[in-house]
Amino acid sequence: MPLTLDQILGQDPAIQTLSRALASGHTHHAWIFHGPLGVGKHTTAQALAKTLLCPNTTPSSPTSRDREGAVPSPLPPQPCDDCPSCNLLSDPDAAHPDLHLIYKELALYSDDANVRSRKLLNIPVDVLRTHLVEPVARKPQLNNAKVFIIDEAERIDPVGQNTLLKTLEEPAPDTFIFLVTTQPQKLLPTIHSRCQHAAFNLLPDDAVTQHLTTHHPDLSPDRLHNITRFARGSLGSAQLAINYQLDHWLTTLDPLINAITTGRPAPTLGPTLAELAEAYAKAHVDQHKNASKDAANKAAVRLLLALLAHLCQKQLTTHAPELDPADPAAAQQALAPYLKGINLVQDADRHLASNVSPALLLDNLAIQWAQPAAG
Ligand SMILES: [Zn+2]
Repeated sequence: MPLTLDQILGQDPAIQTLSRALASGHTHHAWIFHGPLGVGKHTTAQALAKTLLCPNTTPSSPTSRDREGAVPSPLPPQPCDDCPSCNLLSDPDAAHPDLHLIYKELALYSDDANVRSRKLLNIPVDVLRTHLVEPVARKPQLNNAKVFIIDEAERIDPVGQNTLLKTLEEPAPDTFIFLVTTQPQKLLPTIHSRCQHAAFNLLPDDAVTQHLTTHHPDLSPDRLHNITRFARGSLGSAQLAINYQLDHWLTTLDPLINAITTGRPAPTLGPTLAELAEAYAKAHVDQHKNASKDAANKAAVRLLLALLAHLCQKQLTTHAPELDPADPAAAQQALAPYLKGINLVQDADRHLASNVSPALLLDNLAIQWAQPAAG
């Protein structure tokens, strides 16, 4: 578990809403947890599941500040950590009969050979019927509640979203459904209107470093620094960097970007970007059965583009305060390479949606970036 519930609950006003809902004892039956990748949405849903499924939660208590009427932030009830339900959820190898995790890879276990053989691009309605609609109708097996967590809920296909809507419209008692998503706009407005919302934000860099130091004490100071840079506030991205050694993207790209932004040639930037994306996409497909190579390639390029934009943004915020406000022309000139980089990344991101070859796209970006500014 990357973060404790208390840490997460403290970080965001929307999450404090969630905390208050829990403390009131009337938690809404359906929630949308939205925000960037890897900022604790799924972890929070899992932690809440433990509380909701535990029959011996400690009752919520008002904080001292709350009694003075200053800040209304009651402490949410806590699971007992000692009952069969809590024990099952503390054991990473055990399955809890009333916690249902739904994700696109469940299609690999479908009874239908057609569903099994499909590329894992969405959550098919068949998966939703087997893992949500049917168990929602059954009684809880252990205590008095059932929890469903749907990861990447934006991947539920349109038929599936309508099926989900029916479940949300007629909530079974003691059923809690958490839709976890990075793209809430892909969910039907009618689904949004049936759910409560909690927004999750990126974490500060020092929180990411602290987490890495605790959970990966073997990381060298250089890797720790670069993984934190790569993570950009997302523990999920930090884990991705560790799993696929993506911090090496930074050590590879830093000197090339430095060259381009200081007017020196960097002819290998385009091919290097393409190689990095290709290697990551291949490693991802090798590790994930039925993953689409094309989707993995695009995801890899998106990840690279986001990193490039972030590096430029960082340089802008570092350099801007050092510039002389009395000389706006010089300031403009100093910042221009980074602004140009950000614009080119945005263009490339738009083109990625069409069927342009990722290698060409990255090469084009590098060539245009290296061209001296007109005028
Ligand atoms: Zn318990």
